[in-house]
Amino acid sequence: MPQIDRIGRLKGPLRVTCGSCGRTHVWTPAQAVRAFGGECTTVEARRRLACTGCGERRSWKLNFSA
Ligand SMILES: [Zn+2]
Repeated sequence: MPQIDRIGRLKGPLRVTCGSCGRTHVWTPAQAVRAFGGECTTVEARRRLACTGCGERRSWKLNFSA
């Protein structure tokens, strides 16, 4: 699984699962570009997220295809 890629190059949905409470957030590629910008990397996007369930920021598990 690629660890670093640009949001603009995603071929499928970007899925992040909170390592703390297990909540999953899913963005389609178009939604991800709107939310983060196409030049943002998936690693950078991960840093900017806060879980809406528990507020955790650091334990996201990323899952995407690029
Ligand atoms: Zn959470």
